[in-house]
Amino acid sequence: MIIGIDLGTTNSAVAIWRDGESVLVPNALGDLLTPSAVSITDTGEALIGLAARERQPTHPKHTVTAFKRFIGTQQSVTLGKRKFDAEELSALVLRQLKADAEAFTGETVTGAVITVPAYFNDRQRKATRRAGDLAGLEVKRLVNEPTAAALAFGIQTREQEPFLVFDLGGGTFDVSIVEVFDGVVEVRASSGDNRLGGEDFNERLIDLVRARIDPDKKLEKADPVVLAELLRAAAERTRRKLSESDEAEFAIVWKDESFATTVYASALEEACAPLLQRLRDPVLRSLRDSNIRVETLSEIVLVGGSTRMPIVRKAITRMFGRFPNATVHPDHAVALGAAVQAGLLSRDVALDEVRLTDVCPFTLGIEVAEGDGRGGYREGIFSPIIDRNTPIPASRVNSYHTLADNQREIHFGIYQGEAREVASNVKLGEMRIQVPPKPRGEVSIECRFTYDTSGMLDVDVSVPSTGVTRSLVIMDQSDPLTEKQIAERRDALAAIKVHPREESENAAVRARAARCYESFLGRERDIVGQWLSTFDGALDSQDPRTIREAREQLVTALDSLEGERFL
Ligand code: ADP
Ligand code: MG
Repeated sequence: MIIGIDLGTTNSAVAIWRDGESVLVPNALGDLLTPSAVSITDTGEALIGLAARERQPTHPKHTVTAFKRFIGTQQSVTLGKRKFDAEELSALVLRQLKADAEAFTGETVTGAVITVPAYFNDRQRKATRRAGDLAGLEVKRLVNEPTAAALAFGIQTREQEPFLVFDLGGGTFDVSIVEVFDGVVEVRASSGDNRLGGEDFNERLIDLVRARIDPDKKLEKADPVVLAELLRAAAERTRRKLSESDEAEFAIVWKDESFATTVYASALEEACAPLLQRLRDPVLRSLRDSNIRVETLSEIVLVGGSTRMPIVRKAITRMFGRFPNATVHPDHAVALGAAVQAGLLSRDVALDEVRLTDVCPFTLGIEVAEGDGRGGYREGIFSPIIDRNTPIPASRVNSYHTLADNQREIHFGIYQGEAREVASNVKLGEMRIQVPPKPRGEVSIECRFTYDTSGMLDVDVSVPSTGVTRSLVIMDQSDPLTEKQIAERRDALAAIKVHPREESENAAVRARAARCYESFLGRERDIVGQWLSTFDGALDSQDPRTIREAREQLVTALDSLEGERFL
């Protein structure tokens, strides 16, 4: 079976295609979203999802979240005794989602469609594929997140009406313009801001209330890590309440003392005005790139948890002069759409007519030198060959000339990015080609770029006057890992014991209680300590019913102590 996966910065989700529709798969806790979090215990076991997210404040050095931000880079984190890169951390999450889907369906999962932000470059896409490999999943296809959302909204039924997908998640913002033509779904343009999301709104909210809740500066004595988590959790709670009502309490408890204030939706809106302003640019850019006027958009489709904020919806309504569409749950759309694509790949007849095209998400080109107008040359200038947002597969050719008399070789770098100077773009590879010695400017070469749907770039260079050609396939060149190395890494990762799935609910609740024990003091700490012993006693009993009842009691007690918990 092939599954559809939304591998998010904050949360991930998995869905399957069954009986002609997409169905979200609950995890072992019964939740449809799994926090993208990994924590390693003292015994070297991996906790994934909610339990890991809960351990972050108490075990910051053993826990990591938001690792999608550094996928495709050399960066790694040390958790306990072992180093992990973002690919491996993603693989652990993917493996968990695979297990959830297998438990849900009773079938073996072999392949997956995984979504990636439209903004992801080549390296990030390849790293995501490798994460799938490491998790033992054959990655059938990577799909841009907004493209997947488009499929979830069932747009294949509405022909020739461009619409806009607006995805604001925990830490990233993506905009895409999508159109259906002749049963083909085409992403006409994508744009975004990969440093904008719900967490930024949390920070603004904390800035807004920080002085107000603590006029006597008592909190300055608190452990900064503990305090930061208390504030973040309170901000998350308050912000979600403000999605339902016009005012909400912002409250934290520290050393038996409550620090609280009331926040009005209007105040949050004002504090977040610069963030709301930043939503405009990517929207304008995608309209410009696709050459589509805002009036011709048939719909504005909302995706991502942060689009549930009324202040965001208001900003959108104002920006477009109409109300957005939120018929599909914004948190679920991407995974549901990935499952539509998975259904397509399994050749489900109901989906026969839907095809999908995509765009190249970034500009591809080569490095050139150009005259500086004073007889000299400036090197390192980017010459685009395939523009961003060109529908793929795409093939484009440009001509270039020699710069020096009797030049015998042309040597150039291949880059992706949007900057005028290649130094600010990502280098994908380089090539050399021999040319006949002639006065400068007399020899021309042709450079053809072909970019296909799986993200592979072919570069073909030829010298028409001599017939010499050279070609390069970028995917193989820039992927430093061999099949053998991947297999070795997969085995190494498989050797990491994962906390038993059936115990994940207990692990999550226990981690939360342990966090509360550390963050509260005095009487409250004593009480949490007693709750913890009671719960541990129940765990020792090994009787499922006793454990379940104790767990439910503990959750109720913790909710009453710190408020309902959201991740
Ligand atoms: P990502 O795509 O980054 O993994 P999600 O689409 O799951 O993220 O969105 C996560 C964000 O959505 C979090 O920042 C969370 O605060 C926010 N969010 C979820 N529900 C609500 C709500 N009811 N009100 C406001 N924000 C919400
Ligand atoms: Mg998302």
